[in-house]
Amino acid sequence: MPYDTQPAASHFIDGAYVEDRDGTPIDVIYPATGKVIARVHAATPAIVERAIASAKRAQSDWAALSGTERGRILRRAADLMRARNHDLSVLETYDTGKPYQETSVADATSGADALEYFGGLAATLTGEHIQLGENWVYTRREPLGVCVGIGAWNYPTQIACWKGAPALACGNAVIFKPSETTPLCALKVAEMLVEAGLPAGLFNVVQGMGEVGNALVTDSRVDKVSLTGSVPTGRKVYAAAAEGIKHVTMELGGKSPLIVFEDADIENAVGGAILGNFYSSGQVCSNGTRVFVHRAIKEAFLARLTERLGNAVIGDPMDPAVSFGPMVSQRQRDIVLDYIAKGQEEGARLVTGGKAVDREGFYLEPTVFADVTDDMKIAREEIFGPVMAVLDFEDEDEVMARANDTEFGLAAGVFTRDLARAHRVAARFEAGTCYINTYNDAPVEAPFGGAKSSGVGRENSKAAIEHYSQLKSVFVRMDDVDAPF
Ligand code: NDP
Repeated sequence: MPYDTQPAASHFIDGAYVEDRDGTPIDVIYPATGKVIARVHAATPAIVERAIASAKRAQSDWAALSGTERGRILRRAADLMRARNHDLSVLETYDTGKPYQETSVADATSGADALEYFGGLAATLTGEHIQLGENWVYTRREPLGVCVGIGAWNYPTQIACWKGAPALACGNAVIFKPSETTPLCALKVAEMLVEAGLPAGLFNVVQGMGEVGNALVTDSRVDKVSLTGSVPTGRKVYAAAAEGIKHVTMELGGKSPLIVFEDADIENAVGGAILGNFYSSGQVCSNGTRVFVHRAIKEAFLARLTERLGNAVIGDPMDPAVSFGPMVSQRQRDIVLDYIAKGQEEGARLVTGGKAVDREGFYLEPTVFADVTDDMKIAREEIFGPVMAVLDFEDEDEVMARANDTEFGLAAGVFTRDLARAHRVAARFEAGTCYINTYNDAPVEAPFGGAKSSGVGRENSKAAIEHYSQLKSVFVRMDDVDAPF
């Protein structure tokens, strides 16, 4: 293998790689071949203890620095990430199977954006002064303390940075647990932060499955938990965090609607639907997987969609010409194949795809179902794979009610040339992140997060600061104290 995928050790704690072979071994599998490319060990209780103790120890000195000093380190880390984008993108491809064509523009680059943005914001964090006659109150914006980040497997570098950058900017210490499926990338983020000057103990990475995450979430020294994962995991982690009255951010799953009206630019709508269903082989939380297409243009939409999907280049994800890679794991592909079988049993029309690709690795064809109805399983449950469900509609009120008839509320999109309708529809969507004539943009400057069961809190933008800091009010009396006795 031209690239060494085996990390120096499983964990990164207190500024250095740490190993403990007593932990359960986790084989890292390259999704394009199914072969083992590295092995790490799940954190033992001793490793979890070291991570929490080092974060706790380091946090107060970090918080005592000025925002400018903290921000400078984050911005230096952003520069390092950009300079190493190629190597980091190759590693992201090994970890997830996503094509290099994607990882080279969407992962380390997005992580670097977060480090740069929150690095810049760090120096601007202030409290406020509230005058009360001659007396006054001032607020201090203070860190929460030790923040635990738990990641999903689809964006391991980005998720580590989206959680780490705002937390560190606010003066917190971080312990990050990647998904056991993709344990490699977060270690590189930790390495780079230390190289950029981050003091030891402030960004730790521990490996493991759900029980390691649970050990972190339930420790009394942990003040905040930020999870990116599925709704069922979110319920468990939220409940465990609630026991300790901890702060939470929950970035969970979705089954987002994408509405294409009869006046939409079909080429753009098809492009949006492709971005919202097949990027990262469909393994994106905000995907618009319920595509409601107006009956008048449905067949034209499907014809053009099928034609453009035929241009997908499926193959070795390291080849820069390849635009569609494997799914992250055998398990995930099997889950998606089960949904495809269910869609056929329930009577949806398979327009294209539907099968595993006949080659090594966990490849699955881009799949489109038409004539899908609201009650079908493939229209109700998050599949998390390259499966688009196309549903028909005729009327705006009808489609709005159907689009919102779901427990999820992560994202929603609309394609139309009617400006008033676009904004009316966006206002009526029950979702945290909406798109008009586009889909799945996620720049660091804008808040990202879900409504309803899709989550609590927001990542990115100035809004994230609220979720990694707390306000202290300090009352100051200038005149005498007036007590009743
Ligand atoms: P999971 O919910 O299975 O796992 C998420 C993380 O939580 C993993 O690191 C997992 O560890 C850990 N975990 C599992 N159980 C517990 C527990 N009891 N306590 C603490 N931690 C636990 O999600 P996937 O990794 O399968 O990712 C796919 C899901 O993530 C989809 O639903 C997708 O929509 C969502 N997602 C949401 C995003 C958003 O921003 N809203 C973005 C990306 C994905 P392990 O798996 O190693 O056992």
